[in-house]
Amino acid sequence: MIRNVARNVWQICGFPPSAVNAYPIEDVLIDAGIRWDRRMFFRALSGVSLRMVALTHVHPDHQGVAKAVCEKFKCALACHEADRAVMEGLEPMRPPTKPIRYASRLVAGPPRMVDWVLKEGDDVGGFRVIEAPGHTPGHVVFFREDDRLAIAGDLATNMNFITLRTGLHEPPGFFSVDPARNRESIRKLAALRPETLLFGHGPPLRDGDLWQRFAETRAR
Ligand SMILES: [Zn+2]
Ligand SMILES: [Zn+2]
Repeated sequence: MIRNVARNVWQICGFPPSAVNAYPIEDVLIDAGIRWDRRMFFRALSGVSLRMVALTHVHPDHQGVAKAVCEKFKCALACHEADRAVMEGLEPMRPPTKPIRYASRLVAGPPRMVDWVLKEGDDVGGFRVIEAPGHTPGHVVFFREDDRLAIAGDLATNMNFITLRTGLHEPPGFFSVDPARNRESIRKLAALRPETLLFGHGPPLRDGDLWQRFAETRAR
């Protein structure tokens, strides 16, 4: 399923709805689901001329069909330098916890060479790259100034993974490399005053004040 969630931004959401998200923005696809999502992505993207797949971070539920989409659409792959070796299969997914190892085995896609390394301030489809490490070392947020829209990856989830209920949470500790650093990144994004936030997991959050409060209550 694909639906328009903001100007020039669509949400590809599988099942359960919004559990694992990816966002086509014009000719760039932000994130790429799990490896079993291939058909859904090809269908959702049919008729789109993609130039690039750009990843918020390299985790099994974000890079799953990255290689398949790059091959099918003959487009480039981008992620941050600090996650690049993982994407290219030179290092295992991080952190090296059991849940991450299981998820890698069950849902991760194959490695692929990274064509473009993202860094702070780069422009991707009209969005600015904001380095937001912690969940993984190379986690980034894509931020569009004019409507204060943030594609925030797994900086937080807007869904409880067990009950699937909507609500802001820090990602589970066993999925994050450095939770304290991730909290710094949550506050860094809050300083940009986003009004709408799109997450890797959960529905869009159209309440910037809620994000401010969430950031303020994250202990240092
Ligand atoms: Zn993640
Ligand atoms: Zn995720």
